[in-house]
Amino acid sequence: MSSTERVLMGPGPSDVPPRVLEALSRPTIGHLDPVFLEVLDEAQAMLRQVFGTKNALTLPMSATGSAGMETCFVNLLESGERALICRNGVFGGRMAEVARRCGAEVTLVDAPWGKAIDPDDVAKAATEGSFKVLGIVHAETSTGVLQDLSPFRAIADSCGALLLVDAVTSLGGVAVDLDRMGIDAVYSGTQKCLSCPPGLSPVSFSERARQVLSTRKTPVQSWYFDLNLIGRYFGDERVYHHTAPVNMIFALHEALRLVLEEGLQARYARHREQAAALQRGLQALGLELPVEESVRLPPLTLVRIPDGIDDRAVRAKLLADHGLEIGGGLGDFKGKAWRIGLMGASATPQHVKLCLGALEEALR
Ligand SMILES: *Cc1c(COP(=O)(O)O)cnc(C)c1O
Repeated sequence: MSSTERVLMGPGPSDVPPRVLEALSRPTIGHLDPVFLEVLDEAQAMLRQVFGTKNALTLPMSATGSAGMETCFVNLLESGERALICRNGVFGGRMAEVARRCGAEVTLVDAPWGKAIDPDDVAKAATEGSFKVLGIVHAETSTGVLQDLSPFRAIADSCGALLLVDAVTSLGGVAVDLDRMGIDAVYSGTQKCLSCPPGLSPVSFSERARQVLSTRKTPVQSWYFDLNLIGRYFGDERVYHHTAPVNMIFALHEALRLVLEEGLQARYARHREQAAALQRGLQALGLELPVEESVRLPPLTLVRIPDGIDDRAVRAKLLADHGLEIGGGLGDFKGKAWRIGLMGASATPQHVKLCLGALEEALR
């Protein structure tokens, strides 16, 4: 197979730096080898730093971001319990579906696609009895909206709920600050702002969430995602549960080292600055950005496709002429918008320049 050079500016995966690819190709060793266990411990410690937490139960699940979502819901919800889910795009909708499949009774709070969830609407829904979980997406990749999480701890408390957050596209690109925000359960993915290949889903559970987990009345519905079992491999016992994806952990370890070498604040600033440059450039080309500036997500910009422009033809041309991948629209925005990602190693001035130049040429 010939190697394919691509520039990844879609909704993930993002460009993977050479150091991460080198780590991925290190010789495979055993998942109980002391050298590997040290790498694993370090990766967990670095994940805590990037998540902004002291949570002991912080680990990478062996599957993509959606598996992290399933992990949070199956471990915290039991059949017949109630979940309050905020939905303003694909991923909030997926949360609701996953919660229902856990046997939960789901109450939805909707906002239009391209808008943030209104905390007042959630506070109102929270007065309708008690809930086990309040689920919300931090960075809605289907629309390019960043949700301010600060009002939601108090709302979750008002209805006795655990606060469960999707940080798949925010982790490593936008501050997540678990402990400061009082988030009880969170999941992310490796292929977005961490710039590692897809395949792992970092999750973290607060002490309160761990308590809920350890006092369940019924076993977790999924054997593979059962954190009571997985926690025994990640803890001191090192009890075999499944074979850790050793090389992916090497890659994650290196990706996290790169994040921390850059520094979290510098990394967030880089994402903001490049997003602002991209957005100015897009507007200068006469393109419309449907999401209001105050809630625009730096790692992902939604662009309205101008009337009379063929969505697929433009994206095919960018790929053929420049090896450049941008994303199409999802759900309500299918065929109506492009999604341009500036995630991790893909958030650079060179990426912005290439994308603006290529789009200008393709639109002409
Ligand atoms: C990408 C994404 C997911 C799903 O992750 P996969 O790795 O594709 O399974 C979930 N939530 C959000 C917000 C995402 O952007």
